[in-house]
Amino acid sequence: MRRPFVAGNWKMNLSLAAGTALAKAIAAECPAGSNVDVAVCPAFPYLIPVKEVIAGSGVQLGAQNAYFTPPGAFTGEVALDMLTDVGVDWVILGHSERRQFFGDTDPLINQKLQATIAKGLGAILCVGELLADREANRTEAVLETQLGGDFAGVDAAALDKIVIAYEPVWAIGTGVTASPAQAEAAHAFIRNWLANRYNTTVADAVRIQYGGSVKPDNAAELLSQPNVDGALVGGASLKAEQFLPIIQAARTIAGK
Ligand code: PEP
Repeated sequence: MRRPFVAGNWKMNLSLAAGTALAKAIAAECPAGSNVDVAVCPAFPYLIPVKEVIAGSGVQLGAQNAYFTPPGAFTGEVALDMLTDVGVDWVILGHSERRQFFGDTDPLINQKLQATIAKGLGAILCVGELLADREANRTEAVLETQLGGDFAGVDAAALDKIVIAYEPVWAIGTGVTASPAQAEAAHAFIRNWLANRYNTTVADAVRIQYGGSVKPDNAAELLSQPNVDGALVGGASLKAEQFLPIIQAARTIAGK
């Protein structure tokens, strides 16, 4: 069985005090050695203080973006070397907000993905369709285009560092969740794409998280779908009392 992975994407939220308090509350409930991987992904300025708070626990650290070149004259960007330096484990790439507001195209995401893997960091690669795509029956075509672009030149050996997050854009931050059947269908499509592009061994091993309005009351059903291997959580990751039950749902499923 693939080990479930629940990650909290804090986006551009929280203060230093609130972020470290949240990380502390999560770390207290997530000792090392659990049957579920857990990560929190704070904004850049809070990576170091959050890292200090989660030290020794089972909680891993993720960044929300990175630039693909070595350190240099790129004002406002953050190099992967810097993320490695401060102990980051994961980098979220291709989030729909990056695609929508910051010009992250598939070729750029591909460069970031290749650089992340080359640094030995884990990547959480986000893909997902807009509402208009789903309504026009273009979900699979969009996923195919994104995956094809994002994985260009990435070979099978790198896949153990990559987690895919299927995040239908219409479900992000909207309170509208994909139904378990919709999520499962998209995840199965992605896994099949991986099998065709690489091989079934790789496809069976890659974890595919679902993201889009995951909450304590829908997590168990979504996470129990056969091809759903965890969750990338936005809004509900900002409160321990909402994030922890999602982790618990993953643990219960992993324990079965
Ligand atoms: C996200 O932005 O990755 C996300 C899934 O957000 P939310 O859980 O708030 O829909």
